Amino acid sequence: MYDKNWGFATKAIQAGYNPKPGDARILPIYQSTTYYYDDADHVAGLFDLEVPGHMYSRISNPTVEAFEHKVAALEGGVGALATSSGQAAATIAILNICSAGEHFVALSTLYGGTYTLFSVTLKKIGIEVTFINPEADEADIKAAFRPNTKALYAETIGNPGINVFDFEKFGKIAREYGVPLIVDNTFPTPYLCRPFEHGANIVVHSTTKYIDGQARTLGGVIVDAGNFDWSNGNFPGLTEPDPAYHGLRYVEAFGEVAYITKARVQFMRDLGAVMNAEVAFTLHMSLETLALRMVRHSENALALAKYLQNNDKVAWVNYPALEGNPSYSLSQKYLPLGSSGMLTFALKGGAKKAKEFINRVKLAALVVHMGDTRTSILHPASMTHRQLSEAEQISSGVKPDLIRVSVGIEDINDIINDIEQAINAVS
Ligand SMILES: *Cc1c(COP(=O)(O)O)cnc(C)c1O
Repeated sequence: MYDKNWGFATKAIQAGYNPKPGDARILPIYQSTTYYYDDADHVAGLFDLEVPGHMYSRISNPTVEAFEHKVAALEGGVGALATSSGQAAATIAILNICSAGEHFVALSTLYGGTYTLFSVTLKKIGIEVTFINPEADEADIKAAFRPNTKALYAETIGNPGINVFDFEKFGKIAREYGVPLIVDNTFPTPYLCRPFEHGANIVVHSTTKYIDGQARTLGGVIVDAGNFDWSNGNFPGLTEPDPAYHGLRYVEAFGEVAYITKARVQFMRDLGAVMNAEVAFTLHMSLETLALRMVRHSENALALAKYLQNNDKVAWVNYPALEGNPSYSLSQKYLPLGSSGMLTFALKGGAKKAKEFINRVKLAALVVHMGDTRTSILHPASMTHRQLSEAEQISSGVKPDLIRVSVGIEDINDIINDIEQAINAVS
């Protein structure tokens, strides 16, 4: 019944779970670690990856699979692997193609947790990263590439710099060096931007944010576009025999789904960072309203950005869809339906005023989380990014006075009134 020509909202509702006559209409939660077989050869075939099917819920589960199919349909990919969190998705996305002694390039404007994962934890296991400034010119970007470079990693909208990624500039260089472009698409979600349409090869998400959209559950997902040539000589892990599966070669055996299959049967098998069925059920349902929510998040954020821009107690406002913003033209090119719900601003009076301000908001919640229905506020320099040195903070887009707002889908007048009373209370 699924039709790949359906529009986004139709896919968001109809893709994923496909019931047969007599089945539950709504996706069932398959609360089972294991699956029943009465034929030993069938089980052997499953373990050798020769026949498709479920064998153990660390590798796959029908509820989780329905969620994976829905996300893959929305991103326009050929397959997906759900994970226990966004961090697990980023970790597996890199480990799947990068081993000790190898290297990858990443934009410096990344989510704080990803920045630390790359610069500290992956480094400890022998994988090196070079961070580059999103404004770097072609020569500087190329200078970061080495013979052992295996990927280029970026966020569609940087966190918390809110800078829009230049797919064209960076994608061209990734293709020239024969490495995949991996894009964290957490902030826009596939409703506002589909990175595969702009040349990306792999997408990762923290589903904890807008995909869930209601701050209920941690999760992540990796999506494979199926458009990268893994046989270009740079990725022997995908073309050479895997002794764990009797010498199977992923590209030969799985074609366009080689990358995502390898991620599942090697790294999910070994690391076990699985999404469980209850979480997948929640997310599969959340996606049904994604289009509606992202429209409202984007409209509210733009309205709040315009309000702040006209408030003379505000030092600066950063929102990509605001005319004059450094990312304005990239936002019009890659995010024509809206720039999502994240904005940053500062009050005249700097970091001290920022801390006073966040203690005065009433409707907006002071939480570390972002990307859900409730408006929430954060001062990254003293909260999420406090482990980074000041130089690292600046290079990842965190100015000391920066206040981050995750604009929710409440009535915009109530959001503006709350921010206004807090500004007036401290100015
Ligand atoms: C939150 C976030 C992550 C990490 O996701 P978790 O689900 O918290 O592990 C990764 N990337 C971005 C852009 C995020 O906002």
